[in-house]
Amino acid sequence: MAGRRSIRGLSLVFVLSACEQVEQVEATEPLGYDFFLGNTSRDILQDLRIDRRVVNTLHLPMALDRMLITLASLNPDVPNLGITMVQDGQGWQLESPGMGEVASWLQRTSIQRQPRFSLELCVDGDGRASPLWTEGIAVAIGRERAEVFAKDRIPLSPTAAAWLEVLREAMPDFEQRAEDLARPFGLVPMDVVVAAGNRASSDAFAWVDSHIGINLEAFGEAYGEPDDGGVDRMTRILSHEYVHLLSYALYPDHRELRDTPLNRALWTMFFEGIGDYFSLSNRWQPEADGSYSPVTAETLQRLEPVLVDRLEALAEADSASAESELRAGISMGKFDEKWGSLPVALWLHSEAARRGEQELLASTIRLNREAVLPLALRWISSEYQGRVRALLERD
Ligand SMILES: [Zn+2]
Repeated sequence: MAGRRSIRGLSLVFVLSACEQVEQVEATEPLGYDFFLGNTSRDILQDLRIDRRVVNTLHLPMALDRMLITLASLNPDVPNLGITMVQDGQGWQLESPGMGEVASWLQRTSIQRQPRFSLELCVDGDGRASPLWTEGIAVAIGRERAEVFAKDRIPLSPTAAAWLEVLREAMPDFEQRAEDLARPFGLVPMDVVVAAGNRASSDAFAWVDSHIGINLEAFGEAYGEPDDGGVDRMTRILSHEYVHLLSYALYPDHRELRDTPLNRALWTMFFEGIGDYFSLSNRWQPEADGSYSPVTAETLQRLEPVLVDRLEALAEADSASAESELRAGISMGKFDEKWGSLPVALWLHSEAARRGEQELLASTIRLNREAVLPLALRWISSEYQGRVRALLERD
């Protein structure tokens, strides 16, 4: 029987083995990372052409009993799963003696591999941009303009070349971080191509489904010659962009979440706030009890009133031009002036110090834009709490 079922906190392997011919599986909680989201299962998914990026809602192109056959054929040692599903008031639940066996099989199977991160220099010897770079910047500025820029002869400047070396050095650190970054999303760390170019973009950007662009020239303009902190800075910025790819992957329908000016702002605060969280340098580090560092305290004092004013106004905004004016600075421009994304990142930082990062990030990511106002309510200065509560209670 083809159908659609809600399944709580199960891993795909179990889902696949338990339900025959379910066309779409929705998990009300992130699917069990430890069991399913090893690199092993990613390879299997790739073989089967299942969209590995979408974990909470999987569109399965085939009857599920075929998955079992494939698992078995990839490794003759695959255990007999013996899994059954039972339905109770909560939905479908797993009743399985084979759970641990599957997990251990996934861990020891020989087809595990690490995510592959590669770096591609997108400037040729004559200073022209490669097709990959053109493709990347075209997302923001359109194909026609991108192609014009691509033909310009702009050889790498010495500063840009120095940043390229920093990028090369940062790649292994970044790749190592990928698993940690993907975990709270409940996602498989995806392969990434980092495109290094030198024109027509901000310093860093991401484009679906697996590309990060680094504009070496813009790095030089924004941060000068690389110094000792260069590799750390590059790793943080790569992480920020990688988190965007993960967010896109988890929420392929994010446009639906951005249906009003207020919701669009809250989405941006979530999307860029999670990104900024991973690009925070040490100076923002809170105390062990979550209390703010001096720079964090000063910054929040400055940004909190802006944040509340703007969100209130966005809740009433009735034209696109009003909205775009009100959004100015929400997550773009100078880092310590981002009134929307930076407070979210800083509050998360403090709360993570108090209650642990993994659970906080996972629940924030699961709630996406709806996590923003409750987080603000927990952390914003008391004088603004009433106004945040009013925003929260609007709908
Ligand atoms: Zn960003």
